[in-house]
Amino acid sequence: MSHYPFVRIDLAALQHNLQQVRRYAPDSKVMSVIKANAYGHGVLPAAKALQQSDGFAVARLSEALLLRENGYRQPITVFEGVSSAEQWRLAAEQNLMPVVHQQQHVAALLQANLQQPLPMIWLMLETGMHRLGLPDQTVQQLITQLRYRQDVTMQLGLMSHFANADLFGDQRNQQQLAVMQQLAASTGLAVCMANSAAIMTLPESHYDWVRPGLMLYGVSPFADKGGAELGLKPVMQLISKLIATQQLKTGDEVGYGGQWTARKPTRMGVVSIGYGDGYSRHLSNAGEVLIGEQRLPVIGRVSMDTLCVDLGNCPQAQLDDEVIIWGTADLTVEWLAEKAGTIPYELLTGVAPRVNREYQDG
Ligand SMILES: *Cc1c(COP(=O)(O)O)cnc(C)c1O
Repeated sequence: MSHYPFVRIDLAALQHNLQQVRRYAPDSKVMSVIKANAYGHGVLPAAKALQQSDGFAVARLSEALLLRENGYRQPITVFEGVSSAEQWRLAAEQNLMPVVHQQQHVAALLQANLQQPLPMIWLMLETGMHRLGLPDQTVQQLITQLRYRQDVTMQLGLMSHFANADLFGDQRNQQQLAVMQQLAASTGLAVCMANSAAIMTLPESHYDWVRPGLMLYGVSPFADKGGAELGLKPVMQLISKLIATQQLKTGDEVGYGGQWTARKPTRMGVVSIGYGDGYSRHLSNAGEVLIGEQRLPVIGRVSMDTLCVDLGNCPQAQLDDEVIIWGTADLTVEWLAEKAGTIPYELLTGVAPRVNREYQDG
């Protein structure tokens, strides 16, 4: 066993969480969102564990091609779409379902001379998020233009994204839904709208397809509710080891800039993990780690490869002890993200490539 940090990925938990998605949205197809290396969990093992999904979704063409190269034949949605004629040909060859959020991309599509039609194109409707989305009128034009072009695409669908799905009861979600509902009703096209938060709190947004990301990984998108309360199991544990201990005297300063000073004789431990592994430097003097059952405060600045902890509450701690960084009921990534002033998405996707992934079950 090395003393370097690693993540332990529980693939059975991933499958459990997919089942939970199906319980929340029993009448919808599920495209499992595995962009950004499956939120840091490793895209190929995640895709394998999630094979029972009705499809996958990624952000970029390169992510979809990697899945195809590795033999995954499921429908794959590409959220950021494709822009050039060449990319459209590739997308059609590879049977992908791109999202269209720019009218120019359709001009490129119509010049692409596809050998075979795309299985589906998602038209991204602007409903209130004001990020990637086309006005209702433009979408209607595109529908007129593409609807009967079986040489270009077998099917059209409508997609939109909530800006505030994590805020329970927020009126803006209803407003976004109303915009979608109108076009959905008048066109009769398939609709995909719900991310994790909407899957769990806005059943009226489920429509034909749902697209869960975060909840698959067992993590809650809500500020006031943990994954466990939602019936989810955490998939990733980030683990490291105590690689040194020191006895500090009163007045000794710890780490770069001496940002923590011992007020009394203190036993201090060094853990092999730092911002170079994806442990946020915003957790300097703010984070906590777990040794056994004991939570221990991070002291001083987080370095690139290491961080320091106060071992005062854990006299039995010794060299080579396993240190949980996040991912258990006693120390969740949701809690740590809040301490770092960010969201769990950023911590999960930020786990660096140099951190080994170890897979269990599945
Ligand atoms: C990432 C993403 C999702 C998944 O969102 P979660 O909150 O992780 O469930 C869904 N839709 C789009 C367009 C996305 O970019």
